[in-house]
Amino acid sequence: MNYPIYLDYNATCPIDEKVLNKMLPFLKEHFGNAASAHHAYGWKAAEAVAEARQQIAELLGASEKEIVFTSGATESVNLAIKGVFEALSHRGNHIITAQTEHKAVIDSCKHLQKIGADITFLPVEKDGSIDLNLLENSIRKETILISLMAANNETGVLHPIREISEIAQKHQVLFHTDATQAIGKIPFDVTALNIDLLSLSGHKMYAPKGIGALFIRKKIQISPQIDGGRHERGLRSGTLNVPGIVALGEASVLAIEQTEHDFKRISLLRDCLEKAILEAMPNAFVNGNTKQRLPNTTNICFGSDIDGEHLLLALNKIAVSNGSACNSASTEPSYVLKAMGLDNTQAYSSIRFSLGRMSQETTINTAIQHIAEVLKKY
Ligand SMILES: *Cc1c(COP(=O)(O)O)cnc(C)c1O
Repeated sequence: MNYPIYLDYNATCPIDEKVLNKMLPFLKEHFGNAASAHHAYGWKAAEAVAEARQQIAELLGASEKEIVFTSGATESVNLAIKGVFEALSHRGNHIITAQTEHKAVIDSCKHLQKIGADITFLPVEKDGSIDLNLLENSIRKETILISLMAANNETGVLHPIREISEIAQKHQVLFHTDATQAIGKIPFDVTALNIDLLSLSGHKMYAPKGIGALFIRKKIQISPQIDGGRHERGLRSGTLNVPGIVALGEASVLAIEQTEHDFKRISLLRDCLEKAILEAMPNAFVNGNTKQRLPNTTNICFGSDIDGEHLLLALNKIAVSNGSACNSASTEPSYVLKAMGLDNTQAYSSIRFSLGRMSQETTINTAIQHIAEVLKKY
């Protein structure tokens, strides 16, 4: 099978070779349970987990005691939002989030709505940004949490995390950010940015699927959502995924080393691709703010007269998505793009292109040629 050129890094990334090599021994000879305190198998695993925890903390500008391992960003987000709601129910029941968040956030909030939470789903501007005045004016005395993503998975639009955290702090409201798409793509420091809780995922930063982490600032109490053997200081029970954790640690080291270099290289390739498409299709436009945006993402609306599903099929030499991959095979138009004011046909005619560490100039040029050839027929 001739695989298409991969341009869907926001859906998932391949594992970095260095990450794979680092984790393999922990799938083989170093198979111990990190909680086994009485023999060398357990010690080896526990030591590797401690090192990885340190590496992830360093990437985030956090301390290792502030990192809890999970199975991925969906679980981290569930733990953050439900855990805060349960722990702070005596203080209030109001949570503020946005209509363009990932389903992990939206559906966690909808779940809490059924058990007494009051949720504000903020609308967004046409460019996908948040109105900070509206955010601040939405805070009331029952507000316990603001949850806003760092970077949108469909459009790459960045939220002003520092300004949001200032507003949260001023009103003594906790701030959680789903930073799954930002970590590894742009520099991020939870201390400088004053973040209380942060979710991230291994497979969006060149580690495997099934591993993630939640940063929880010291002294913040949240209620565990998975009970059992009291792993992770009781916050997340379940035998640790040692190979996954080792991989996430190594992926963090690579992110520290490479983010800046990747940023420049990948944004140049993304810009070439975007420019070529916009030149080939005069009616096409980019969805979302192009200044406050991830370096690897472009989400393009090809125009109401173009059937996006048809175009996706025609673009058979590249692997891209129409933004609903995270929505498991949904054929609904993207709710993110609709929240930004696109109508159904515009949302249906939009395609997300997302590049990554393994994207090379030669393959991007091949992709550009292929896209240009396909677009000629439209
Ligand atoms: C991929 C993604 C998630 C879900 O992460 P998993 O590790 O696959 O559960 C959550 N939020 C955003 C913004 C994402 O891109």
